[in-house]
Amino acid sequence: MSDQLNISIKKTAKSRLAETDFDNLPFGKTFSDHMFMADYSDGEWKNFQILPYGEIGINPAISALHYGQSFFEGIKAYKHANGKISIFRPDKNGERFNLSAQRLCMPELPVQTFLQSIATLVDLDRDWVPGKENHSLYIRPFMFATDPFLGVIPSTSYKYMVLTGPVGPYFSKNLKIKIETHYSRACDGGFGFAKAAGNYGGAMLPNLKATQEGFDQLIWTDSREHAYIEELGAANVMFLMDGTLITPSTRDTILKGVTRDTVLTLARNWNVNIEERRISVDEIIAGIKQGRITDAFGVGTAATIAHIAEIGHNGELYTLPDPAQRVFSNKVLNTLNNLRYGRSADEFGWNYMVGQ
Ligand SMILES: *Cc1c(COP(=O)(O)O)cnc(C)c1O
Repeated sequence: MSDQLNISIKKTAKSRLAETDFDNLPFGKTFSDHMFMADYSDGEWKNFQILPYGEIGINPAISALHYGQSFFEGIKAYKHANGKISIFRPDKNGERFNLSAQRLCMPELPVQTFLQSIATLVDLDRDWVPGKENHSLYIRPFMFATDPFLGVIPSTSYKYMVLTGPVGPYFSKNLKIKIETHYSRACDGGFGFAKAAGNYGGAMLPNLKATQEGFDQLIWTDSREHAYIEELGAANVMFLMDGTLITPSTRDTILKGVTRDTVLTLARNWNVNIEERRISVDEIIAGIKQGRITDAFGVGTAATIAHIAEIGHNGELYTLPDPAQRVFSNKVLNTLNNLRYGRSADEFGWNYMVGQ
C-alpha cells in the first residue's frame, strides 16, 4: 500500500437508515448517511474529510456554476451473500476521472486517493449497500471549481466530493429508442469523452423531445452527417449482427465506458467475434429489416445491460427480437451479476473489496 490518506471522520448523530424504504429506490434520490469532501488549493489536495451528508455553503460566484468546470463519475458497490462488499472496477473510473480533469483544465487526483476516499466512505456506510438482486450502492464522485471569480479562466481552487446512495434497477423495462438525427451531444474536438457536467445539461432538451414522442432514450449520431451511431444517453451501445458483436469505436465524441470494456472482455473470453468500428445508421436499419440483428443493448454502470426492444428512425418504428429470448445479452447480465455479487470466481480481478 502507498501512503494512507489522513481522513478526518465526523459521524452523523442520527442515521437515516431505519427510515429508508429499500423496496422503493428511485435512482439518485436516496443518499447514505455520509459524504466525502476534499479541497484543492495552492497546487495540492488537502482537508480530506468524511462528514454527514448535507448542504454545503458555496459562494455564488464560483466558476463551476457559471462556466461548467465540473465533472463526475458513476460506480457501483455490491453486497455478497456472505456480507462482503465489493466495488466494481473503480480503478478504471479513477483513470477516467483524470482524463475528464485534464480536458477541463482541472487538477488530477491520484487514483490511489480516489480509491481510498471511496473505499473508506463505502465501508463507513456499508449498511446502506443493498443485498437484493439488481440492487447496489451507487457511488458518485465529482469535482467542481470553487474560485469566486467571473473570469473565464481555469479556477485555482476545487472541491472533490463523493456521495453514495442505494439504487434498484435503472431501467425497469426494455427500451424504445429514437435515433437522433437533428441534435448532437458532442462534436469532433469537443469533450464528449469526458464525463463533464455540461454534456448532460445540453442533452436534456433532445431527450425531453424524444420522451414527448414516446421514446425512452435516444441514440446519438455523429454531429457532421448524423449517419453514424455513437452511443446512448449514459450508456454505450452494442449490437449482435450475424453473430458478431459490433460497437462504435471510441473517439472524442464517445465516452469510453467501463461496462463497454467489461462486456468486450467477456465476449473476447467467450471467443465471440468482435468489431469496434464505425457503424452507420443505414447498416443497423437494414440489419434489423433482414433479421440479421439478434441483439441490441446499452451498456453502462447505471443501466447495466439495457435491452433495446424498438428503434425509431425517420418516422418508422422497427421491432427487434424479444429481449427475453436473447442469448448473448442475457448471458452477459447473468455472468456480471454472478461476479458482482460474489457468486462466481473473480477471474478478471474486477471486484475491489471493501473492509475485510
Ligand atoms: C457514464 C456514461 C457511459 C457509461 O460508462 P460506464 O463507465 O460503463 O458507466 C456511457 N456514455 C456516457 C455518455 C456516459 O456518461
